[in-house]
Amino acid sequence: AEQMHAQIDSGDKFYSIEITPPISVLDSCQLLRSLQNLYNCSPLFTAITWHIKTSAMPVPPVLPFGKLRALRLGAEISNINSVLLHLSSVGLTKKQVCQVLWYIRDMGIRNIFALRGDRPERNNDLKLDRGFPYASDLVSFIQERFGDYFTICVAGYPLGHPEAVSFEQDLAHLKEKVDKGASFIITQFFFKAGDFVNFVQWCRRIGITVPIIPGILLIQDYTSLIHISSACSVEVPRSVLDIIEPIKDNREAVRKFGVHLAVEMVSYLFSQNYSNAAHFFTLNRQLSVIETCKCLGFCLLEPARPLMHHERCKKSKRIVKL
Ligand code: FAD
Repeated sequence: AEQMHAQIDSGDKFYSIEITPPISVLDSCQLLRSLQNLYNCSPLFTAITWHIKTSAMPVPPVLPFGKLRALRLGAEISNINSVLLHLSSVGLTKKQVCQVLWYIRDMGIRNIFALRGDRPERNNDLKLDRGFPYASDLVSFIQERFGDYFTICVAGYPLGHPEAVSFEQDLAHLKEKVDKGASFIITQFFFKAGDFVNFVQWCRRIGITVPIIPGILLIQDYTSLIHISSACSVEVPRSVLDIIEPIKDNREAVRKFGVHLAVEMVSYLFSQNYSNAAHFFTLNRQLSVIETCKCLGFCLLEPARPLMHHERCKKSKRIVKL
């Protein structure tokens, strides 16, 4: 964990990726096979999302850890890349979170993305906020129980979290998460580099000094863009819609524009020293990430030997050092 932390702090340029455990058809080995070329471009780490419906159900009475997709996928990926495992506390008791953390620790994973999670609407089966009203409570809990064993990441919102009373209060709550032990921040996606710049400047002004990694959505197609933006309450600016709407039926053209936008924003942030890293929301697809990374100069190395199937899928508890 220290090494990953050190590399994030070092100022060296890097990128990381975020993937979602497949729900049904693809299992984790198949997903890894489909992302194989991406790993030849050496992301610093792979973040694995955690969703209440797929990762933590059924919650009571016992979490069937071995069956949790996020944890299974984390075990597979820890053979080839450092893992940042998302853990959203919504719907979980302190005891359950503690059990998950011990399990993650036994797997050799040392990096946790501590999230509160979204409150699922119309779900009467889940008693929410049982253990952790806010992500900062989860950060404190991890610190109290596990000391410095885990490196903790938290979420930041360049345009403010949708539930926040004000941008200023949201920043103050972000600072609370950092003060309680988070080592770095990954942001929600945005479509204007200036939004990230403004956010970083505000964070620095109120005394948040940890690295802030911009979350970059690689637009795949019009429909998913609209769906994801609305699910995350991030408004797509008119300037972006004006380009995409006329070509919305041409998926490849929209995808290419997504790569162009990502390259443009990240190049600007790098060149002005607002960031030395980019975190790509891959939507489990590798092509746009690879194209973006090539343009940004991350993929200059000769591709490594592709991993054999048994190497990708073997269950080892080895910690992958960076
Ligand atoms: P918090 O930091 O707790 O903030 C939630 C809201 O409460 C904010 O409005 C904040 O201002 C406010 N708040 C915080 N502390 C206090 C306080 N003490 N008093 C009053 N108000 C307070 N969700 C998932 O379910 N799974 C994932 O894998 C996942 N990955 C994500 C990855 C990234 C990069 C991002 C940006 C978000 C991700 N999310 C994920 C979504 C996230 O769970 C939601 O945005 C959720 O609504 C808030 O989570 P949080 O950890 O930011 O919460």
